[in-house]
Amino acid sequence: LGQRIVIIGGVACGLKAASRARRLDGQADITVIEQGRHISYAACGMPYVISGRIKKVEDLVQRTPAYFERLKGIRMLTGCRATAIDRGRKVVRYLGGAGGEAEAPRELPYDKLVLATGARPVAPPLPGLDLPGVFRLKDLADTEAILKVVCKAKRAVIIGAGPIGVEMAEAFRARGLEVVLIEARGQLLPGLLDFEMARLLERHLTRQGVDVRCGAKLLRFEGEEGLARVVTSSEAATEAVLEADLALLAIGVRPNVELAREAGLAIGQTGAIKVDDHLRTSDPDIYAGGDCAEMRHLLTGKPVYIPLGTTANKHGRVIADNICGGGDTFPGVMGTALLKAFDYTVGRSGLTAEAAREAGFDAAQALVPAPDHAHYYGGAQAFALKLICERPGGRLLGVQIVGPGEVAGRLDTAVAAMSFGATAEQLSKIDFGYSPPFAQAMDALIVAANVARNKLAGVASVLPEEVRRALDGPDAPLLVDVRGAPERQKARLGVGEVVHLPFPQLRKGMAKLPKDRDLITFCWGGQRAYEAALILRRSGFERVRFMDGSLFTWPYELEEDDPGWR
Ligand SMILES: Cc1cc2nc3c(=O)[nH]c(=O)nc-3n(C[C@H](O)[C@H](O)[C@H](O)COP(=O)(O)OP(=O)(O)OC[C@H]3O[C@@H](n4cnc5c(N)ncnc54)[C@H](O)[C@@H]3O)c2cc1C
Repeated sequence: LGQRIVIIGGVACGLKAASRARRLDGQADITVIEQGRHISYAACGMPYVISGRIKKVEDLVQRTPAYFERLKGIRMLTGCRATAIDRGRKVVRYLGGAGGEAEAPRELPYDKLVLATGARPVAPPLPGLDLPGVFRLKDLADTEAILKVVCKAKRAVIIGAGPIGVEMAEAFRARGLEVVLIEARGQLLPGLLDFEMARLLERHLTRQGVDVRCGAKLLRFEGEEGLARVVTSSEAATEAVLEADLALLAIGVRPNVELAREAGLAIGQTGAIKVDDHLRTSDPDIYAGGDCAEMRHLLTGKPVYIPLGTTANKHGRVIADNICGGGDTFPGVMGTALLKAFDYTVGRSGLTAEAAREAGFDAAQALVPAPDHAHYYGGAQAFALKLICERPGGRLLGVQIVGPGEVAGRLDTAVAAMSFGATAEQLSKIDFGYSPPFAQAMDALIVAANVARNKLAGVASVLPEEVRRALDGPDAPLLVDVRGAPERQKARLGVGEVVHLPFPQLRKGMAKLPKDRDLITFCWGGQRAYEAALILRRSGFERVRFMDGSLFTWPYELEEDDPGWR
């Protein structure tokens, strides 16, 4: 008989490891222990079943236990829970099976053990957490439970504006519910996006009818027989009471590490199971991967916990290769994330500006709105693209893209460049494909890379956050709006002293601008503002700079008469 491989956890990482191990080793005796009813399902698709886009929960199930047993010769112990690992005797104890958990624990010997136990939703012990109507979304049972009430519910409150919270806001709106999305921190997707990028998403969600409340903390759930109210903190230091018949707690997940901890395996500083590049735990015969394992951040070299399905699948393959005699490695992650939010796509990877600062990088930021393809082709849509690079060399540290149009491909292109350590200059010279339906002659990524190069070369531009701070300072700058009148009618800055000087009239009208005051030019997206600042500087205005991303990415006070102005 071949080596005995036992895998705990039968979803992404566990089953990828099992399948790959079988491909590599036809003789291995492979057993998967899974406590749940379902195996091999696409958890990432659950929001789309709840929205109604995917018709049935079963559509998310890729393979059945019978498939693995009959076709692959892998023993599937579903409905069985591993309760302990005896590393000395190399056995896993488990409960369940035909007789249920009432039966005495059984033992399963292993030569190699894989921990693919995943994670579970964080649920702080707040009053009302167990009321009917309060949900979490982790597995198919949760999906089924939400589906049972979503068609009757009228008002949903989502707690937590991470990727799942944002995706679920869309799902509940698609079912016709009123939706309030509350987030304790000051922005959507905290830690994933910088503030101005998160504000673009927030405005889009608001336009789609989601009541977004950042800076509000969940206090408790209230109701008699079922959920009736969600109580949160509010800015006014009083409590806000939100009527609700459905609440979703989506404030993150914690790795399932109890088995590992009790078996004496090392737990990393993030609280997940510590593994090396080969995904081996502190016991060379035990591997761990997916949502229960710690990873290394490729840019900081530090341990991180970023649980994602894509990583879990890759881990499964690496683990199987190593168990079966190979020497594969998983170097780490960059925190790449992609999600759909109504008509927008959000893509991000690497470090945010704040994370880059915290990690000790001197980071430059390029912020550009850009159409996703040639405007003359028709139907072009503008998204905002941000690149973060290290000074002075320009190595790419982060990318964020928010908006409609083709975001995903550009994200992955930037991620590929970042993975190979590219600089902004190298990104700007990649031979991208161009045809009007797909891109501009200078693709948005190239434009952003060139803006980053300008920044590194010292071109005098300021980010919206710097402008906003300066407006509250003692020598507030004068803002120069170089857009034409029709554009100004649609949307205007809602703060600061603004002079209107349309770009075509700049040379004639510049005499009215003061030379002894800081000037900041702005336009729709920054390009005309840049040109205007250059003209003014060459005309003797030494204190002029232009605003990166201009009005398009301005996250603060705005007066909008036409919501479609972007
Ligand atoms: C709503 C939602 C949307 C998501 N969207 C995305 C996305 O778009 N992109 C992306 O990359 N990721 C996404 N994810 C994350 C992704 O689903 C997870 O990262 C992935 O499922 C992790 O796989 P895993 O195998 O490590 O763990 P899991 O899928 O959690 O599987 C672990 C399994 O182990 C079992 N188990 C645990 N302990 C025991 C035990 N003691 N005995 C027996 N069995 C045990 C559990 O029952 C569970 O079935 C999403 C997650 C959710 C919830």
